[in-house]
Amino acid sequence: MAQSAWDVVIVGAGPAGLSAALVLGRACRRVLVCDRGTPRNRASKAINAFLTRDGISPGEFRRIAHLELHRYPNVARVAAEVTRAARLSDGGFAVRVANRTVTCRKLLIATGVLDRLPNIAGIDRFFGSSVFQCPYCDGWEVRGAPVAAYGKRQRGFEIARALTAWTDDIALCTNGPSGLSRSDKLGLRRNRIRLCEQPILRLRGSDGKLQAIEFTAGEALPRSALFFDTACTDQSQLAASLGCQFNRSGGIRCGQYEATSVPGVFVAGNIIKDVQLSIVAAAEGARAAFGINRSLTREDFSRKASGVRHIEHPTLQIPSGQKRVVANSPSHPR
Ligand SMILES: Cc1cc2nc3c(=O)[nH]c(=O)nc-3n(C[C@H](O)[C@H](O)[C@H](O)COP(=O)(O)OP(=O)(O)OC[C@H]3O[C@@H](n4cnc5c(N)ncnc54)[C@H](O)[C@@H]3O)c2cc1C
Repeated sequence: MAQSAWDVVIVGAGPAGLSAALVLGRACRRVLVCDRGTPRNRASKAINAFLTRDGISPGEFRRIAHLELHRYPNVARVAAEVTRAARLSDGGFAVRVANRTVTCRKLLIATGVLDRLPNIAGIDRFFGSSVFQCPYCDGWEVRGAPVAAYGKRQRGFEIARALTAWTDDIALCTNGPSGLSRSDKLGLRRNRIRLCEQPILRLRGSDGKLQAIEFTAGEALPRSALFFDTACTDQSQLAASLGCQFNRSGGIRCGQYEATSVPGVFVAGNIIKDVQLSIVAAAEGARAAFGINRSLTREDFSRKASGVRHIEHPTLQIPSGQKRVVANSPSHPR
């Protein structure tokens, strides 16, 4: 194998990529972390439900993570987009970043997703303050309060049902016909969830605080928060361009240690489309780092032992007992 400049290139420095960088740094690997600065939670004020960091601001989280990585001179960071990655004949990768091409032995794609905000006038003014996509992240702060669920068909039903853990004052707003079955509608009624199918005119409130949802027919529904479930978009197409297989939910098919179907390529974080909490993304990053380091160690050991070069890659078949449950809904499993 030709000498690669880096053992590992990590694309994406959210909780997933940063956590992987820490584990790989501590495993004495030469790691390059590339990030273009578009984290999913950039509208958010706090990262909740992250043990020891509950409520920390995303900026402070990154500051601490960068400080910790700074202890490891073998980990470098570049603030730039990776525009291309290609597999080389020796099993390594050529990665195009900041107008240069670097090479590495393993590639970790931790590029995350972006939310598609519902098509409602003025919604971006409230996103991250009183309009959210995940009740596990932001439900506690509005527990018991009047909230709206927003989503079409099954997505709307699922987010409304999920919210019953936090409040019993829920209105499911579908901004037009809900497309729900009679039995779903009955289920909502029996759980005292109001179904509002009227078209929405706009959201009303100030300083990011939602006060009411205004419908085109003139009615205004007082609400303190809105939780939506819409499809989210992968932040990068790198996995697809490398030929990684996808599962039925639109997530990347991965097996043991977050290994993809392409030898040498691993994934971590929201791009997998499993549970989409930051602490889970960080755990997936750590697991991928373990898999990557294990492969590198085994490759080097066997080359020295037998002179044979081969590419070690974890199996796509997850051993029984460790089965990964992948979400039905691409935005958040409930
Ligand atoms: C409003 C809001 C509030 C949230 N609140 C919480 C919360 O309270 N608690 C919680 O646990 N989770 C919360 N989340 C979810 C949280 O944001 C995600 O779980 C977490 O960011 C996922 O981490 P990640 O590393 O997979 O992806 P990200 O954090 O999205 O990081 C991906 C990184 O990859 C970079 N990138 C993408 N493509 C490229 C490329 N081609 N080249 C270089 N870099 C690239 C991006 O710039 C980005 O920095 C919230 C999300 C939102 C939207």
